[in-house]
Amino acid sequence: MEQLDYWSQRTNKRLLNYELKKLKPEVKKELAHKMLRECEQELGQDSGTAPNQDTDFYDPFSTSAALPLGAFKDPAGKVHLAALNADTFTTLKLTEVIQEADKVQRLKFALPDPEAHSGCLPGQYVQARVNVGGKFHERYLSPMSAPSAFGMMELGLRLETHGAFSLAVKNMKIGDTLECRGPCGGFEYSAGKLDTLTMIATGVGATPAIQLICSIANDPSDTTKVKFFYHAKTPEQLLCLEELTALGKHDSRFDFTFCVSECDDSWTGSEGLIDASTLKPFLPPANGKTNKTIICTGPVVVITTLSALHELGYKSDDIYIYGPFGVELIRAVYGQKAKLATHLPC
Ligand SMILES: Cc1cc2nc3c(=O)[nH]c(=O)nc-3n(C[C@H](O)[C@H](O)[C@H](O)COP(=O)(O)OP(=O)(O)OC[C@H]3O[C@@H](n4cnc5c(N)ncnc54)[C@H](O)[C@@H]3O)c2cc1C
Repeated sequence: MEQLDYWSQRTNKRLLNYELKKLKPEVKKELAHKMLRECEQELGQDSGTAPNQDTDFYDPFSTSAALPLGAFKDPAGKVHLAALNADTFTTLKLTEVIQEADKVQRLKFALPDPEAHSGCLPGQYVQARVNVGGKFHERYLSPMSAPSAFGMMELGLRLETHGAFSLAVKNMKIGDTLECRGPCGGFEYSAGKLDTLTMIATGVGATPAIQLICSIANDPSDTTKVKFFYHAKTPEQLLCLEELTALGKHDSRFDFTFCVSECDDSWTGSEGLIDASTLKPFLPPANGKTNKTIICTGPVVVITTLSALHELGYKSDDIYIYGPFGVELIRAVYGQKAKLATHLPC
């Protein structure tokens, strides 16, 4: 039988074709995307990589290509098509910019078809690209709007001072366009499968959590309880604070804790930093299959959160982390053989 020779520099096309034939169509598609991007980089058509750029972000929790949310019928029987698809970029027009804090913006984009939905399941993220001087800059973003928000998609963005994508978005005016493709990966939520969805987020990292909250809020038949611990430096940096506060007051499925580290006397929420002592009273008891935890924050807070979860008996495969080092962080706390969450619907 033909063997792979790791030392040889010659490509064994016969073996390669044979191996490719074994792949499922969705895995082939994902591989084709990756190879096209690599070709663009090698041929110098890509923007290159700055130290922290994440254009090559690969979601280690996703064991196969992201599930797309295709056409669906609303309760009145009307069919809504998906606006985005994973293979090609779709052009979206900027319709509204809300300045939440100094460097935090909420941006609303019109989908080409006003009756369409984004095409992403709650919890999934998309890839957006901007063209600056003939070079594309591609970044992953988590929409905040629920799939049932027809004709629009809302993004929440922290504008990084020297960020290539951030600078392009900062200069966008109403009517300008952004290209997006997706879904690209992420947690794939389906209604009514969980007792409790616990989410811990900081700052603009809360975008996937907000999308999940919007989706559950829009579906009165979904009995999932949501516990959301949301921290930012100042109250202004808490995305959608007003809307979330109102929702928490009127819908008993939601239990929100807003916590800031800098505030004046008018602040009525919690105050402090995220550590084991602030998190533990907030976390529900670990009860296996019906409780999933999502963490949307930077590596330091992820480690603190994971340590608290580990101590309280949460299983590693009930935890999903948004961000490039999720698996490494789970392994750092739960050990190298830790079981991982998959992207499959919970
Ligand atoms: C799955 C996923 C979902 C995401 N969802 C969101 C989301 O919903 N909202 C969101 O805001 N972000 C999100 N992100 C992050 C986002 O993809 C980008 O990383 C972010 O917008 C920054 O991109 P940028 O091009 O502006 O910065 P980059 O150009 O990539 O720069 C990254 C950092 O390096 C600094 N930097 C760059 N060049 C220099 C230099 N020459 N000298 C010094 N510093 C420099 C920048 O200031 C910035 O802090 C997500 C990421 C992932 C992986």
